Amino acid sequence: MNPKYSLVIPVYNEETNIPELYRRLKAVIDKLGEAELILVNDGSRDRSLWLLRELHQQDSRVCYLSLSRNFGHQIAVTAGLNFVRGQAIIVLDADLQDPPELIPKLVEKWQQGYQLVYAQRTRRHRESWLKRLPAYIFYRLLRQLADVEIPLDTGDFCLMDRRVVDILNRMPERNRYIRGLRSWVGWRQTSILYERDPRFAGEVKYTLGKSLALAANGLVSFSRVPLRISTYVGLLAAAVAVLMAVLVLYWRLFAPSSPLTGFATILIAIFFLGAVQLVSIGILGEYVGRIYEEIKGRPLYVLSEVGGFTEIKSQ
Ligand code: UDP
Ligand code: MG
Repeated sequence: MNPKYSLVIPVYNEETNIPELYRRLKAVIDKLGEAELILVNDGSRDRSLWLLRELHQQDSRVCYLSLSRNFGHQIAVTAGLNFVRGQAIIVLDADLQDPPELIPKLVEKWQQGYQLVYAQRTRRHRESWLKRLPAYIFYRLLRQLADVEIPLDTGDFCLMDRRVVDILNRMPERNRYIRGLRSWVGWRQTSILYERDPRFAGEVKYTLGKSLALAANGLVSFSRVPLRISTYVGLLAAAVAVLMAVLVLYWRLFAPSSPLTGFATILIAIFFLGAVQLVSIGILGEYVGRIYEEIKGRPLYVLSEVGGFTEIKSQ
């Protein structure tokens, strides 16, 4: 018999968090009843996988998938979603930044008929400004530019109805920005507010590089506005050029004594337009590179071990 609730948790070098995570999740799912925990080991180099095997031995509700290497958070979640058996699916981080005690509240909204309930951060405890400020700006920029409405300050912590997950599972894209994809599905969506706790233990796995890559994915996957920037800047530059031409002609004809100083202006103009062109090519490259990645159509991930699943689905 299939469980009613599935919890999907990506795990990357979280050995220090897993015991406490299990302890707190167990208290929650004991009350919920009929739940499965799907922990996805994303190529951890510490004892995480070993701990997952042990938990699976102890508690049959705990299942795990182990990816053959580190594929990244969004892909780890995707792998977990491919295997869920429940009717309501909850995605949360392994570092206890998303408090498991909030799950009953998410479930309550689901029972009221919402297909997607996302947890929205009101505060982030003890995260550095270096992380909070760019995140703050990014979410607002994305909201301006994206074709679908992606709610502000929401992470991956959410509850999805089975039907939403079925649709996500049918989306073939490799550059996955799950926060955007789940909003894209539509239907009835709502949020609950929460304060994001600090990490329980261990180090942040989302390095600056990974966060930037995720942000770029979000923007490129959900907006074509960046592509238009070069058109706008090009039009602007053309307008300025015409204006300058008229001005120079005027000087030549009617004010021959005015000095036509030009060296600095020319240099600045060359550099500026050169910069605009390079940035435009870079933006174009972001899109073209993604087309190339998608067109190859490689599987999203490779499994090396599973626990608690009898059939291995095609990946
Ligand atoms: N994670 C993962 N693969 C990665 C990076 C992170 O599975 O390559 C997992 C990590 O174990 C954690 C979650 O994704 O459960 C969020 O990572 P982290 O706490 O480092 O990021 P942040 O809280 O800053 O979003
Ligand atoms: Mg975290």
